[in-house]
Amino acid sequence: MLQATLKEPFTLKGLGVHSGKECSVTVYPAEEDNGIIFKLKNSQSVIKGNFSNVSDTRMCTQISNTEGQSLKTIEHLVAALYGLKISNAFIEVNGGEIPILDGSAKPFASEINKIGVKQQSKNRKIIKIIKKVKVTDNEKYEELSSGDSFTFNIKCDFVKKGLLTSEINFDLNKDNFYENIAPARTFGFISDVEILRKNNLALGASLENTVVYDNYGKPMNAGGLRFENESVKHKLLDVIGDLSLSGYWIQGHFSAFCPSHKLNNILLKLLFSNPENYEIL
Ligand SMILES: [Zn+2]
Repeated sequence: MLQATLKEPFTLKGLGVHSGKECSVTVYPAEEDNGIIFKLKNSQSVIKGNFSNVSDTRMCTQISNTEGQSLKTIEHLVAALYGLKISNAFIEVNGGEIPILDGSAKPFASEINKIGVKQQSKNRKIIKIIKKVKVTDNEKYEELSSGDSFTFNIKCDFVKKGLLTSEINFDLNKDNFYENIAPARTFGFISDVEILRKNNLALGASLENTVVYDNYGKPMNAGGLRFENESVKHKLLDVIGDLSLSGYWIQGHFSAFCPSHKLNNILLKLLFSNPENYEIL
């Protein structure tokens, strides 16, 4: 697989789901071996899109640099870039947060598809999983093991919230990320909304950018769901975004029960903690 970037830049504007304020993002093409680099507008320093810079995983994936600058909610944008095989981009953000838009990666993916992907001449760096790594959090777990492609098996259990258990299997090299995963939206439960509001969290969240389930597990959004298993697909979208922060294309198999931003980050830290776990190709 060759490295790739965008043919031209694009800009998107919208609300930050956490701040509730208007913000914007411009994604520019970048040179080979640049990786994914972020910069806050009116600042000189950058924040590399790398798992080692993840500073908060409670509601979204936030990255920070040593100057104390932070950027929230990068996961859907980096998932769109990774899912569409873009390895190099320079991203400028105004407002401290990537806009939530419709709560999925579709607006980013559509822009990338419209503009087009430019293949570069160097090969993309691949990390091949050699030894299985596994992290757990009560009954939740995530693991990366060896495999020929980059495949996923994710199960979620929302029975207590009124939803059926759901599962997804996906191959990021072969299956259609743009059609099947990018449109899956962020979701939440009406039972949690009051707690979030009381704590001044998710101030920009609304039915415009979040699937909200009622106490019976029914979506409250006017148009209903985009996929029957939209929520587990969104979990996969978040996993793809968070694992993209490895800085490599991954060759291996990911499996999880109830994955989270927190476990996604701990899993990468564990993977890179021992060079026997992987090989760089
Ligand atoms: Zn998400």
